[in-house]
Amino acid sequence: MKRDTICVQGGYQPKNGEPRQVPIIQSTTFKYDTSEDMGKLFDLEASGYFYTRLQNPTNDYVAAKICQLEGGTAAMLTSSGQAANFFSVFNIANSGDHVVASAEIYGGTYNLFAVTMKKMGIDFTFVSADATREELDKAFRPNTKAVFGETLANPALSVLDIERFAEAAHAHGVPLIVDNTFATPVNCRPFEWGADIVTHSTTKYLDGHGAAVGGCIVDSGKFDWKKYADKFPGLCTPDDSYHGITYVEKFGLEGAFITKATAQLMRDFGSIQSPQNAFLLNLGLESLHVRMKKHCENGQKVAEFLSKHPKVSWVRYCGLEGDKYYALAQKYLPNGSCGVVSFGVKGGRKAAETFMKNLKISAIATHVADARTCCLHPASATHRQMSDEELVAAGITPDLVRFSCGLEDAEDLIEDIDNALKAVK
Ligand SMILES: *Cc1c(COP(=O)(O)O)cnc(C)c1O
Repeated sequence: MKRDTICVQGGYQPKNGEPRQVPIIQSTTFKYDTSEDMGKLFDLEASGYFYTRLQNPTNDYVAAKICQLEGGTAAMLTSSGQAANFFSVFNIANSGDHVVASAEIYGGTYNLFAVTMKKMGIDFTFVSADATREELDKAFRPNTKAVFGETLANPALSVLDIERFAEAAHAHGVPLIVDNTFATPVNCRPFEWGADIVTHSTTKYLDGHGAAVGGCIVDSGKFDWKKYADKFPGLCTPDDSYHGITYVEKFGLEGAFITKATAQLMRDFGSIQSPQNAFLLNLGLESLHVRMKKHCENGQKVAEFLSKHPKVSWVRYCGLEGDKYYALAQKYLPNGSCGVVSFGVKGGRKAAETFMKNLKISAIATHVADARTCCLHPASATHRQMSDEELVAAGITPDLVRFSCGLEDAEDLIEDIDNALKAVK
């Protein structure tokens, strides 16, 4: 199946007489005839469902679709993008370990890494998304377990040089984890460029309607954990909580990572997506390929308009010729990036606030990648926990407005922006 067909029909393949649409298995539990049958599931000796905190068929149908879209070997849904990013790192990094991450990442992920996971004993070194190979090499330590970045950073909109980050990660014997939320597998498939694990906040374009918070982790199955067995004992040595099974032996390179994350992290943290939300997510996925085209078209038109406006001091959109990331975008995102445009209003923070107050069609919302256009001032919302220096390192200036173009008519959006800019004196 080609990409567009996977969006519509991937993951769930009904058999004769079964529901055409993905069924919502709204059940916490699953019945078995014998305790032995159930015991095999608890020992990971057989695959099947017993309790929705760990796995649910609806979730697995939808995860399988995202897995196909990304070109991976295994995937799982999580309750949120935060849970996906947490699990993706915590599955291979323990207390005393270290991770290299791009500094230009989503504010929530930055807090998760720099504050909460630090409390858990995991150290992060943040590097520029533009780091050279030499700068990347310097960030590694003997206890480094992963490298993390975003294909298209939210909201800095820098484009990650996935190949460069993957080469550096692999040279140091660790996987590259890429958060592909903004690009979506429609516009970029990080595995094709060497990434090993992909994560998503499905809350954004994959759902696309602002209806359900969710996340997803996909494994490429390509990272050779066994080759670096001493770095990844959790995958390569027996798990005492499952009678001594070794994930890479029992589930192979293609299944070990996701099985471990499900069997240990989902079991213990329980960040499961509700089957109801997975169903809504799947409705969004059915039109992802159609919607992304329109989001990108609107993003391009809005970015071009803003770049010529006298009251706008700068625009960041990698589809603009002359944008710092234009060349990288041509390589990694040749069919378009996303609908999000970041820009600065002349006059700084105050002007940005006046501009936003005067928008009519575009709503102020802590959201992006929605069918309805929305915008946000990160310095006073998502990133307000950060110091000025951290803001600059994350590619966010105090005047930055993150404008997420929805699926409306571009002319209406441009008129709305134009009117709101007129209010800025
Ligand atoms: C929103 C977002 C997250 C967090 O996802 P939630 O679903 O809100 O938990 C992570 N990464 C990126 C790039 C995001 O945009």
